Amino acid sequence: MHSHHSHSGEYVAHGVDPLDSMIAQAETMGFETFCLTEHMPRQDAKFLYPEEVEGSNGDESAALQKLQDNFCHFLEHAERIKKAHPSGHPNIIIGTEVEGCDIAHIQYAKKLLQERSDTIKFCVGSVHHINDIAIDYDQACWDAALASFDNNLKAMLVSYFDLQYELLTTLQPKVVGHFDLFKLLFPANLSVNPDTGVCGKSGDANLVPVTAANYLDVWPEVQKLVVRNLQYINSYGGAVEINTSALRKGLAEPYPSRNVAELVKAHNGGRFVLSDDSHGIKQVGTCYPAALKYITETLQLTEMHYLREENGDVTLQSMPIADFAASDFWKQFP
Ligand SMILES: [Zn+2]
Ligand SMILES: [Zn+2]
Repeated sequence: MHSHHSHSGEYVAHGVDPLDSMIAQAETMGFETFCLTEHMPRQDAKFLYPEEVEGSNGDESAALQKLQDNFCHFLEHAERIKKAHPSGHPNIIIGTEVEGCDIAHIQYAKKLLQERSDTIKFCVGSVHHINDIAIDYDQACWDAALASFDNNLKAMLVSYFDLQYELLTTLQPKVVGHFDLFKLLFPANLSVNPDTGVCGKSGDANLVPVTAANYLDVWPEVQKLVVRNLQYINSYGGAVEINTSALRKGLAEPYPSRNVAELVKAHNGGRFVLSDDSHGIKQVGTCYPAALKYITETLQLTEMHYLREENGDVTLQSMPIADFAASDFWKQFP
């Protein structure tokens, strides 16, 4: 089994368990590929999370420095763990998650990936902010992001996929993380004017419900951007992750939802990898049985992909879905 995306309590403010114990858990559960992908540091104080500022007693520059220090310690620690597993079971691959906060951060990521290419073998490229506002933190933040577009939902989605495109074209991430992260806090009851993209105003007679399941149907222009991004990922051979953290947080489908996943099948050769995006021991392999169902029954994929590192080279491999589904890994679940 594989996970291409993980964090630990030592190196991210909202993580739970130490990195060593997460690797031990991955070994116990029989993971063949387990990727360590702590967040690359953020450089601008406007992207600090409240718990990070609090953790440094309100001192923002100290909080930013801590992110830098943490990341260096993470890379050293990950190297030690890797050396302690020379057999390659599990195949531990050191990467990083680029949060893609804005253009400046994406450029910084590019520089850092080049400078540390001896250690960092790949990146998970993802977007967590729209208009500089975190969209997966809490509902108030998500709403503030929408408000920053004068409540124009369509403009907000266009902005998300344009920033994602910037990230893709700058970094060519081998794994594209939680492709449709904005669905996490997408309100269930938005009424939107489909022509303007603006959310319900009293007196507007032209309103339709827009949800995380139908926005691509409402706005073909947005769908075009998704296809553009997927075709670009296809051009350099990247993979889109099926990320089970959405299931852990109570959504019905992992990232990406079926609407996007069908486009991945059509425009990125169906190149999917699986990730738990774990932040603690309990989250290693979280909701994987539900993901298996999603993969085999809902999406009916014919193969799964995974990263493998050999002699310092990380390549994307594929396996037939029958082999994936027949893995002994699944026997541990009731
Ligand atoms: Zn993420
Ligand atoms: Zn993550």
